[in-house]
Amino acid sequence: MNFSSLALDKSLTDAVKTLGYTAPTPIQQQAIPAILEGKDIMAGAQTGTGKTAAFALPILQQLIKYTDAPRPIRALVLTPTRELAQQVYKSFLRYAENTQLNLAVAYGGVSINPQISAIEKGADILIATPGRLLDHMTKGSVDLSQLQTIVFDEADRMLDMGFKDEINRILSRVPNKRQTLLFSATFDETIFKLSKTLLNNPVLIEV
Ligand code: AMP
Repeated sequence: MNFSSLALDKSLTDAVKTLGYTAPTPIQQQAIPAILEGKDIMAGAQTGTGKTAAFALPILQQLIKYTDAPRPIRALVLTPTRELAQQVYKSFLRYAENTQLNLAVAYGGVSINPQISAIEKGADILIATPGRLLDHMTKGSVDLSQLQTIVFDEADRMLDMGFKDEINRILSRVPNKRQTLLFSATFDETIFKLSKTLLNNPVLIEV
């Protein structure tokens, strides 16, 4: 399989070509079509499998059609740590290089004001850690009422780090009618419990 068989816009296939990717990885082959069909997914994937592009490319594809300004936040990626947030943000920037979509990132341990300015300029996609995202929501700098897609990246680590309450508070402020994508390196009872409350008839992907 190659990227051109995945029904992605040329702006996206050009970006992956520039990065030297010749073929989608197994998780990309399975996740990209399912996400483009609007399905929820539950994917078991370690770092290094290409999981970031597996959700970033179809999310960008779904949002490419929105060209009016200003645009609301339509996709949110939650990560357990600021390092992962930065890494996912950098990957999104590369994949979105040839599009008009705007990205923002929000994590703790740094001043909140530059993040507010970036978000206020209009972000289609926000990558965030749970605690700092809640700070933004409390301040009113982030509105998730138009959210279409939410991604839990490294969901097992998010639970290990004690973000259950934060996740529930965030979920209470996003539309129920949405697409939810859950990525986790490991699956135990607590992840299955979380997935039951989060996911609607998910496609299961194991690589
Ligand atoms: P990830 O698992 O998302 O952290 O990605 C791991 C590494 O694989 C990153 O350096 C990506 O740039 C790279 N990568 C992702 N997809 C592909 C692909 N289809 N072909 C080659 N490299 C890729």
